Amino acid sequence: MASLDLKPGIVTGNALCELLDFCKSEQCALPAVNVIGSHTANAAIEAARQAKAPIIVQYSQGGGQFNAGKFLDNSKQAASIAGTIAGAHHVRAIAEAYGVPVVLHTDHCARKLLPWIDGVLEAGEAYYAMTGAPLYSSHMLDLSEDALAENLETCAKYLERMASIEMTLEIELGVTGGEEDGVDNDDIDNSKLYTQPADVLAAYDKLSPIGSFTVAASFGNTHGVYAPGNVKLTPAILKHSQAHIRAERDTEEKPVHFVFHGGSGSSRDEIREAVSYGVVKMNIDTDTQWAFLSPIKKYMDEKDAYLKSQLGNPDGADKPNKKHIDPRAWLHLGEKGIVARLVQAFEDLGTGGKFGG
Ligand SMILES: [Zn+2]
Repeated sequence: MASLDLKPGIVTGNALCELLDFCKSEQCALPAVNVIGSHTANAAIEAARQAKAPIIVQYSQGGGQFNAGKFLDNSKQAASIAGTIAGAHHVRAIAEAYGVPVVLHTDHCARKLLPWIDGVLEAGEAYYAMTGAPLYSSHMLDLSEDALAENLETCAKYLERMASIEMTLEIELGVTGGEEDGVDNDDIDNSKLYTQPADVLAAYDKLSPIGSFTVAASFGNTHGVYAPGNVKLTPAILKHSQAHIRAERDTEEKPVHFVFHGGSGSSRDEIREAVSYGVVKMNIDTDTQWAFLSPIKKYMDEKDAYLKSQLGNPDGADKPNKKHIDPRAWLHLGEKGIVARLVQAFEDLGTGGKFGG
């Protein structure tokens, strides 16, 4: 088995390229967890510690805004930029304390949100000038609503800028169904929900001379968990894309690192099949939102009689409820719910024993 020398802390540059290659050759993938602040980030990192594997922690534009506080005006992305930068500094400090290698990433950035990534990239360049490492390991641009040429043209420009500070770019080809972060793709034309191998080849030709990149492809995956509908998960699209590039450009067997968006609600068999075709990252958001809420709701239901006022409960009219009210009592239950869900995700993604655990 190939071995990997990964240090605790943020994984960037060559170390990230080696990690993605390792996952591809070992046929495992890392969960990429959407976080919205310190509680969710800590829970994600604790899950990685328990699973003895690296993890990808990601802020969306909305997650970054939430981290700054929804009180701030965000008309020019100022709140999202500040919150995304602050989130990175928190994760940087905590990852080392937990002894976990963490890939720091930002999620979907549509064209109208580019000012958000511009602001975070500026901070990343300043951080690189100061420390020799970028603030974030990677960013994602989701320009899949544009025509392919326009999508790739903009991605190439950003990759040039990002490669110079040793960052990786994630792009999107085809449209992931469902709704995330307020962007609803539920009414999109069905054919756009499946990425074409020729499009992946075009991305490969355009971006591989510039730097390191990954491709979020659409193979019937959706954001969120829905009852089985008219979109069918078809991971073979990934296999066909790898084979197409290999045939056309005489590359290695799996030239592309793929990303699986909308992993929530997928079965282990579906996940493992996608991973065998070169998926190295799977996004999980909806399932961890549910895992965070469930134990907190149970607590609120069970402790209901102790949460009606600051004083007075079934044990006596003057008994204090302070220890039941304390947010630490119930927020930590939510954190533990996230940890348990993510430990399962690591198993689904086949990381067991691959990273020395
Ligand atoms: Zn996504």
